Amino acid sequence: MKSQKPESIAAQALGWIDDTTKEIVGQIHTSTTYIRDPDNQYRNGRVYARDHNPTFDQPEAVLNALEGGHQTLLFASGMAAATAVFQALNPGDHVIAPKVMYWSLRNWLKTFASRWGLQIEFVDATDLDALGASIQPGKTKLVWIETPANPMWSITDIAATCELAHRAGALVAVDSTVATPVLSRPIEHGADFVMHAATKYLNGHSDVVAGAITAARDCETWQRIRSVRAQIGGIAGPFEAWLLMRGMRTLFPRVRTACASAQRVAEYFAQHPLVSEVLYPGLPGFIGHHVAAKQMHGGFSGMMSIRVKQGEAAAIAVAANTQLWKRATSLGGVESLIEHRASVEGEGTPAPSDLLRMSVGIESAQDLIDDFEQALAIAASQAPK
Ligand code: PLP
Repeated sequence: MKSQKPESIAAQALGWIDDTTKEIVGQIHTSTTYIRDPDNQYRNGRVYARDHNPTFDQPEAVLNALEGGHQTLLFASGMAAATAVFQALNPGDHVIAPKVMYWSLRNWLKTFASRWGLQIEFVDATDLDALGASIQPGKTKLVWIETPANPMWSITDIAATCELAHRAGALVAVDSTVATPVLSRPIEHGADFVMHAATKYLNGHSDVVAGAITAARDCETWQRIRSVRAQIGGIAGPFEAWLLMRGMRTLFPRVRTACASAQRVAEYFAQHPLVSEVLYPGLPGFIGHHVAAKQMHGGFSGMMSIRVKQGEAAAIAVAANTQLWKRATSLGGVESLIEHRASVEGEGTPAPSDLLRMSVGIESAQDLIDDFEQALAIAASQAPK
């Protein structure tokens, strides 16, 4: 076949068949080292498993094909992947990051990356004028964006950001964990790097911690990112890489089911008397909906946040009384999760204290609505009159 649709690429993991065994599911390779040729060469290209484990090959190739990239590398976690991009820069480089972003990476940028000499400036990435004004030609080396962004699901215009950044000589990296390649392919909009916390939707079963970076093309920064992984060694384990490959085969139906259910849940609670606001890019009234509709295809993700009208205590009580929605951090698994986000993120969080972050899984959407509804009713009955 000439060119396969992404659904087929994912389902058949590029259709790789092992030459020797003819098996259609790849193996877990545990060897940490590889034999040298008698003449002292390493003709098979593998020297040591910190960088060359064959178990990485298939998930890297599949994700690379889904993102339309030049090359993809797996990492030990989303954080290992994201921080490798910043570690590829030089002390003194100016970097733009969004005010609304994955909190742990924001904390790392504020602490470690700043101590190490990067000049980090946090801007409202949904405001293109503010973004444009903060980019310093020749000095800004990287613009990092996340879209939709935790935990407000703010949408950043990828194409417009790339235009502004590239004009000033800066690279753009997109944390596309929430969108996944099912809904958005940032490289098509001009991004230089795409990052995933593969822990989330790519794996999809809450049993692997892993990360990935895809590069749009080969360049000096990509070579530096490669050497950060090879030298620092933030690699996924072979079992995790294998599980991730297994999980990615069902990426499309999982993400599509989660999107359809999230849209239903969001529309239902947007009208609810005990809810003050539903934050979901699929709602026509959501700021950023039009940009999301332009750069996302087939859905608006499985992530949303709901603000409980009666305030923080009521929000915590809702999370305490759901049964199907599991009270836990993380996202992108087959099971739905709910979390009072301000208590996780602490100081500096953009999350209001009445906000519950919700990761919609693949259960019945009606069950999810009923469960949240009964928890809202219990919380309301407990609230001081
Ligand atoms: N980016 C986003 C959007 C995330 O939600 C997370 C984790 O929650 C990360 C990055 C970090 O990924 P990991 O937990 O695999 O290090």
